[in-house]
Amino acid sequence: MAAVNFGRDEGLDIAIRCGGHNGPGLGSCNDGLVIDLSMMKGVRVDPASRTVRVDAGCTSGDVDHATHPFGLAVPFGIVSTTGVAGLTLGGGTGYLTRKYGLTIDNLLEADVVLADGKFVTASKSQHPDLFWALRGGGGNFGVVTSFLFQAHPVSTVYAGPIFWEAKHAKAVMRAYRDFLPTAPEELGAFVGLKTVPPMDPFPKDYWGKRACAVISAYNGPAADGERAIAPLLKAVPPPAFNWMGAMPFPAIQGLFDPFFPKGLQWYWKGDFVKSLPDEAIDTHIAQAAEAPTALSLMHLYPIDGAVRRAPKDATAWNTRDATWSMVIAGIDSDPKGAEALKKWGRAYWKAVHGFNLEGGYVNFMMEDEADGRVQASYGENYGRLASVKAKYDPANLFRVNQNIRPAA
Ligand SMILES: Cc1cc2nc3c(=O)[nH]c(=O)nc-3n(C[C@H](O)[C@H](O)[C@H](O)COP(=O)(O)OP(=O)(O)OC[C@H]3O[C@@H](n4cnc5c(N)ncnc54)[C@H](O)[C@@H]3O)c2cc1C
Repeated sequence: MAAVNFGRDEGLDIAIRCGGHNGPGLGSCNDGLVIDLSMMKGVRVDPASRTVRVDAGCTSGDVDHATHPFGLAVPFGIVSTTGVAGLTLGGGTGYLTRKYGLTIDNLLEADVVLADGKFVTASKSQHPDLFWALRGGGGNFGVVTSFLFQAHPVSTVYAGPIFWEAKHAKAVMRAYRDFLPTAPEELGAFVGLKTVPPMDPFPKDYWGKRACAVISAYNGPAADGERAIAPLLKAVPPPAFNWMGAMPFPAIQGLFDPFFPKGLQWYWKGDFVKSLPDEAIDTHIAQAAEAPTALSLMHLYPIDGAVRRAPKDATAWNTRDATWSMVIAGIDSDPKGAEALKKWGRAYWKAVHGFNLEGGYVNFMMEDEADGRVQASYGENYGRLASVKAKYDPANLFRVNQNIRPAA
């Protein structure tokens, strides 16, 4: 509250930071005030109600660590060092999304410091308009200091990556597209175009080679997980390696953390994707082949199952009728590579955007999106969001974000 009042009274730009994972760096700002919540790390699990109280500085790994001993988990993303606050306020997709919905679909309550410095709790019964807007509207409405989530029974999962050589990418992407709607919702599975990391334990023969991957987690016994993924494996050539196996849920959540240390250069572009015609798959494969670095990737995360069961106006996050959330991510450890990442990301996005919906997931956008992209991402919910913004932040104090302008 003191920080918000200070920033406002001094006329400073205010950035709000949790996990610091935001691609365009909207968790920070130059010549302004960064309200860094990353030391607020408390997590309290109530196993009886299966709810979890989470301080706003937690990463999803902090929460998984606390919930796992109780056989519970909240649906978050696929890298455990991602901040809960930024991920949740943007929407939140991950392995558990098909069965349990977006992260925001599991948000019960949030404590918020508003632009006027007042502290409120938002929930279905308290400030319901604010609660609606927080679920997808990003950091536009205030500084969230605490979240209350619904958790679900999740313990040992059957999970891991399966990689195919690039020559099989077309077959794998087509088979994955057709398989997903038939797969049980317990199976969270995304497809990606990537490069095999040139390091152990990856098989040396494939180091640095382009590849297609399906990365999954089945929430249930290994035998059921094997059965769930079997139809996909039957429909495609043998993989280069299949590392699916039984593991604690936090293990799959943290499996890819080492590839994403702090300090990398990122340039990403997102879109919501409704369908994936053969021509789109061919375009993806051709564009991904031009990736400037081995870390650069394209992923398609499922938006189906439980996400579609909530009405489109239930939360600010609108595009519940998409099938995937796409991210094209140019990633490099060398700052000198930044321009190449941008060039590739923009060209790739331009080539595939015609197959996609107008908007994209706000958490997969840079700060240089064209006018109208943020509006398109919220669709018919944008007007209502702008009204809530006008009520809670009329002067647009919280503007270091994918900004929603206050309605006039
Ligand atoms: C390696 C990697 C993997 C990812 N995987 C996934 C994934 O699987 N699923 C998914 O949905 N997303 C994923 N993302 C995207 C992620 O959701 C966004 O980058 C998100 O912005 C990260 O949140 P953060 O708190 O770490 O970021 P920060 O940079 O700390 O904050 C980002 C923005 O969030 C807002 N914000 C942060 N904290 C608060 C707060 N307490 N109150 C109000 N506003 C706040 C602010 O507007 C801020 O600008 C991934 C990102 C990376 C880098």
